[in-house]
Amino acid sequence: MTRDEIMKIIAEKNVNFFRLQFVDIFGAMKNIAIPRSQIEKALDGRIMFDGSSIEGFVRINESDMHLKPDYNTFVVLPWRSKDGYNAARIICDVYKPDGTPFVGCPRNNLKRVLADAKALGYTMNVGTECEFFLFRRDEKGLATTITDDVTGYFDVEPDDTGIDCRRKIIQTLEAMGFEVEASHHEGAEGQHEINFKYADALTAADNTVTFKWVVRSIARDFNLHATFMPKPVFGVNGSGMHTNQSLFDLDGGNAFFDEQDPLQLSEVAYKYIAGILKNARGFCGISNPLVNSYKRLVAGYEAPVYVAWSASNRSVLVRIPASRGMGTRTEVRSPDPTCNPYLTFAMMLNAGLDGIKNDLPVPAPINADIFELTVQEKIDAGIHSLPASLHEAIQELKASPIAEEALGPHILEKYIEGKEKEWDSFRTAVTDWELNHYLSRY
Ligand code: GLU
Ligand code: MG
Ligand code: MG
Repeated sequence: MTRDEIMKIIAEKNVNFFRLQFVDIFGAMKNIAIPRSQIEKALDGRIMFDGSSIEGFVRINESDMHLKPDYNTFVVLPWRSKDGYNAARIICDVYKPDGTPFVGCPRNNLKRVLADAKALGYTMNVGTECEFFLFRRDEKGLATTITDDVTGYFDVEPDDTGIDCRRKIIQTLEAMGFEVEASHHEGAEGQHEINFKYADALTAADNTVTFKWVVRSIARDFNLHATFMPKPVFGVNGSGMHTNQSLFDLDGGNAFFDEQDPLQLSEVAYKYIAGILKNARGFCGISNPLVNSYKRLVAGYEAPVYVAWSASNRSVLVRIPASRGMGTRTEVRSPDPTCNPYLTFAMMLNAGLDGIKNDLPVPAPINADIFELTVQEKIDAGIHSLPASLHEAIQELKASPIAEEALGPHILEKYIEGKEKEWDSFRTAVTDWELNHYLSRY
């Protein structure tokens, strides 16, 4: 989109509020709302903000940051329309006053990593499947974990009370230019999934943060609370963010497809899978960032626990969905939707490239249900587990040979600092579980 096209839409749609958006290193969406009079200034990239107030950004003495808008991300917000006036948003990159990209901006970082991949001859396409729960709010408007609906996977009305809300979410996404491909009720009560079309990795990351924002905003209009928390309810499925990914050649062909191969996967695809498997424990701290993330990665709930791949079964970390040709891709099933997608894609891309650059051999696929294998059978097959806690994941991230290249030293340092604090706060808390098990017994 050009600047003129944006100005035309602003005039036509009477846009009087303009939100400049960016994400912090933990993936939280931030925005600065400006009135109409400032829009030209914003489109010139002349709006400044104080970076020291954003988590993981900068120190006080170097805090003036510029927001440089990406014109392609301009969109009018359908649910903010009121009395003939509209609001719009644009996603920005964070720049330093000297005009250079700020290294702590996750979007700049992903662009850097994508440029490195391009130099090797590849572009990355990504499609995310973000699962979420719709819960009731209580009288005070606070979120609960109560859901009205009792339907299961792919069930239909009339039992599904979230369906009106989901329909409205889809309409809103479509009005914003998303190509919604499917939506369904997920495995647990109150759990949903809406799939939108894959895109180049940068656009896919933008779409993923936008998607989560839309879902939460629309749910609020229905007096529901949408949560992407990985495991809000014990004993039922949690919410994942399966990440479908493929590399394309610079001439536009899918580099993962090879008609001659028995599985119709190319050498590049096998090496990419090998790289993902090798680095899966290392990127978990980024793709599964919360204490709660590790309550999802347990056996029995369709979430992966073991580092393995397969063209057919769903208990593994990397699955190869059936479509071939341009649709050939790997589906990495470990990430959850609370991750920062810009950082997660950067880590997974570097993991895959590690496999390609170093000619890593792909381990044998595991076509049996891993949960059925004995401990010895898993050891014999060289199958490792994902980290069992945020603490373990942080240790793995610190030891990861690809993390510094994928995230840059600034983001890596600030990220680990923040996550260590989070872990410590959990580690020292006295939880309900402890009180229930120990208080009356000891
Ligand atoms: N909800 C499951 C997870 O935690 C995935 C279910 C599915 O296969 O879509 O990853
Ligand atoms: Mg799903
Ligand atoms: Mg999936």
